[in-house]
Amino acid sequence: MVWLNKIFKGSNLKISAGQSHGSHADDDGRQGYEDEDVDHAIAVSLSEEDQRGKAVDNKSHLEEDEQLARAMQESLFTESPPHRNGQVYQPYPFFFPSFSRRCAGCNKEVGHGRYLSVMGAVWHPECFRCHECNKPIYDHEFSMYENHPYHKSCYRKLFHPKCDVCKQFIPEIRDGRIEYRAHPFWGQKYCPLHERDGTPRCCSCERMESMDAKYVTLDDGRKLCLECLNFSIMDTSECQPLYLDIQEFYEGLNMKVEQQIPLLLVERLALNEAMEGEKNGHHHLPETRGLCLSEEQIVRTILRRPIIGPGNRLIDMITGPYRLVRRCEVTAILILYGLPRLLTGSILAHEMMHAWLRLKGYRNLDPDVEEGICQVLAHMWLDSEIISGSGSNAASTSSTRPSKKGARTQSERKLGEFFKHQIESDVSPEYGDGFRAANRAVDQYGLRRTLDHISLTGRFP
Ligand SMILES: [Zn+2]
Ligand SMILES: [Zn+2]
Ligand SMILES: [Zn+2]
Ligand SMILES: [Zn+2]
Ligand SMILES: [Zn+2]
Repeated sequence: MVWLNKIFKGSNLKISAGQSHGSHADDDGRQGYEDEDVDHAIAVSLSEEDQRGKAVDNKSHLEEDEQLARAMQESLFTESPPHRNGQVYQPYPFFFPSFSRRCAGCNKEVGHGRYLSVMGAVWHPECFRCHECNKPIYDHEFSMYENHPYHKSCYRKLFHPKCDVCKQFIPEIRDGRIEYRAHPFWGQKYCPLHERDGTPRCCSCERMESMDAKYVTLDDGRKLCLECLNFSIMDTSECQPLYLDIQEFYEGLNMKVEQQIPLLLVERLALNEAMEGEKNGHHHLPETRGLCLSEEQIVRTILRRPIIGPGNRLIDMITGPYRLVRRCEVTAILILYGLPRLLTGSILAHEMMHAWLRLKGYRNLDPDVEEGICQVLAHMWLDSEIISGSGSNAASTSSTRPSKKGARTQSERKLGEFFKHQIESDVSPEYGDGFRAANRAVDQYGLRRTLDHISLTGRFP
């Protein structure tokens, strides 16, 4: 899964202030509109101190605050500053003829007194107002969005991204740039720091644990969010109705698997041990979640589901040995326990396809062809579940038994969409590229003709 790395680039907007008695003021020429590519404009300094009035203060006041002075250097103009000895100093040919010196806010004459020169116009200080709270902006910096000025604090409340994990504003790095990570499917955004501070991620849906959502810890160390836990399948017997669903799905495709292949739910350790006991097969990195076995082995299977104990840890799981006997090319299908029904089912549909290929005598397929076509079946099954669970045609599909849990809830459908997205966006050459090539072939020629072609040539049509 590729996580997006996003940066908000901020813009630095300053107010020019001046005194008008028949002379000119100027702005620094950088205001307002130079950052067309900016998602949102965020002012650089987010100092919370009230800087009211400083924009029109005099020089001595500035010396008290070096930082402020630097920020204001280019933007503060006072008429006849002492070091200029009253000369008419004209850095840019920029005049406000007296007849046009109308306030852009109230359209009245600016007259004599203080004014602001900003956004290509002049304003009474009390007329330059925030688009959000409608109060005057006296601060020497402000934020712009869609040609409207905002107090920096108002802007922040409206637009500054908040971290979905720690619930704080995502910190700026420099120059007003805000860097964060965003999940490409869930849109969850968070401070990059949470990738290093041990914040857990759900092993099923990949979402990060947030301040307000405690995850459970499976006894093999995996973390599961409460939503995924709600739909999770925890032991071998709980998995059998799902197995029947998948078998019927294959039957519906005219690909019935006649042999009785044991399906076992296992812990991560048991899965990894079984994987080492297999001579062949490719494995889905970073984590293998299912296996189609061909060897005789003894596998520890989960006999009774665990319960949630102290500290949100799952405890009291009962496992027992299961001896695999080789009656055909496939001795068992193993699936990692604790995953939601739709994910467990899509892994099972994938492993069933390995079993089908082996039992039908498809030999020595290239990994991208074999894994690709297996992922197509997983994806197809997810599709059928999402459609049949949406309620509209659940009753009319006679071949599909109603799901044990009834119509899909919105959140389960969303999870199903995510698992599809995961298959579609997989970057590995075998599972990702393989899936996309297989899916194109099935779209174009249908599943049957694609399989026939693979059987003859070992490649996709
Ligand atoms: Zn005005
Ligand atoms: Zn405001
Ligand atoms: Zn955070
Ligand atoms: Zn989850
Ligand atoms: Zn596979």
